[in-house]
Amino acid sequence: MALYDMVIAGARVIDPETGTDEILNTGINGGSIAALSRNSLAGRQEIDGGGLILAPGFIDIHTHEDTIEGGAGPLNKPLENRFFFPNTISVCAMRTGNTFIMGGNCGYSNYPMGAYLQKLEDLRLPINCMSLIGNVSLRQRLGLGDYDRASPAQIVKLKNMAAAALKEGAAGISFGLQYAPGTEFGELVALCSAAAEAGKFFAVHMRHDVPARALEGVEEVLAAAEITGAALQISHLASNVYGKNTAGENNIKKAALLIDKARKSGADIYVDVYPYNVWATSIQSAVFDQGFDEFNFGIEDLELISGEMAGRYCTPELFEKLRTAPEDTMVACHNAMPFEDIEAAYKLEYACVGSDALLTLSGDHIKGHPRSAGSPARFLKEFVREKKSFPLIEGLRKLTLNPAQRLGLEKKGRLQEGCDADLVLFDFEKIADRASYGIDACALPSEGIRALIAGGRLVHAGGTHES
Ligand SMILES: [Zn+2]
Repeated sequence: MALYDMVIAGARVIDPETGTDEILNTGINGGSIAALSRNSLAGRQEIDGGGLILAPGFIDIHTHEDTIEGGAGPLNKPLENRFFFPNTISVCAMRTGNTFIMGGNCGYSNYPMGAYLQKLEDLRLPINCMSLIGNVSLRQRLGLGDYDRASPAQIVKLKNMAAAALKEGAAGISFGLQYAPGTEFGELVALCSAAAEAGKFFAVHMRHDVPARALEGVEEVLAAAEITGAALQISHLASNVYGKNTAGENNIKKAALLIDKARKSGADIYVDVYPYNVWATSIQSAVFDQGFDEFNFGIEDLELISGEMAGRYCTPELFEKLRTAPEDTMVACHNAMPFEDIEAAYKLEYACVGSDALLTLSGDHIKGHPRSAGSPARFLKEFVREKKSFPLIEGLRKLTLNPAQRLGLEKKGRLQEGCDADLVLFDFEKIADRASYGIDACALPSEGIRALIAGGRLVHAGGTHES
């Protein structure tokens, strides 16, 4: 009998692409799935999958692995030639079931991209990490402030820089239209055309996040996708599109109609959503320039999640002080959007679970939003097991196949012979996030992840009650 490098015996194997949902033995050789069989298999390393689910490793298409870790220096300042490494975020991601994370979102990334990707490789992280090139970071390289319009010559430069980054291996271009309101539609289109020419996609943190204007933001990105033909990833849909518009219509439902129409006419669109009703962003960002009148939350709902005062809630005085402090501060904005809108966004067949992970390190302590360490487990617990918003295989599709399709990864996000051995073994009855708000608590590993295999290697083994 053939001897495999590793065998996972008797797990319930689920593959969202083929619809496989069966107790099978899985044989792994090198970095690939070599056998899926009802017959017993022998391996040098054997893992008992009895009573557990074996799924493709989760793919987190939306993290901020790259710009935040280290937390040295203002978060909203240019990152020229400064590299931040995703050690902590990749470990947090791994311990909640991810075998792949994508950084460089919302317009912020490292630059130059080739050098950053080389650093990522040199780090030998436990899981796969990739990055987008961010338009706000490129604008900063040209000395453009958040509200500055780019001249035609600058737009050409930005496009060339983005195209070069794509050539160096960036997975796509990200935009932070709300963070750099000076980014005009023509600039967006010029850079999207670079993505289209490279056969890659663009990901957008849209321009508006107040209910009255949410749909304008959606229309803008759909128009850019239509004009350029570039594939589109709408970032954290439910945190920009929620509530009701001025006509009293449900924003998510209206946005879904617009996106569905574009998809039917051939546009390649996915969205990502994180399973929390709490935003996180930097207190000095343009997001707060508009005041709080149209938000669901107020200043007192802002919890500081970086810096010396992490854990404290804002007061109007503290808010004013931190807005202009020499060091920027990350904040979690509690009660930002209704649960029903998050659920409605997840119900879209083209939804992905993306954490929007944000962490900072200070000394030995980790500060940030718990979504960095809890998203997939929380999604499976709340939306699949408890609310039963959709069947398990559909939930897994949003964690695996959908993001793999967006990223053009043909051997990931799938559990089939010949695919990459990036796998997660978990207890569906026990899976739960443990990360919560607070210093270090934000990084607690999830419960119920029994084994994580990346590139054919066991990189994480957890019990039911990890400490
Ligand atoms: Zn964002």
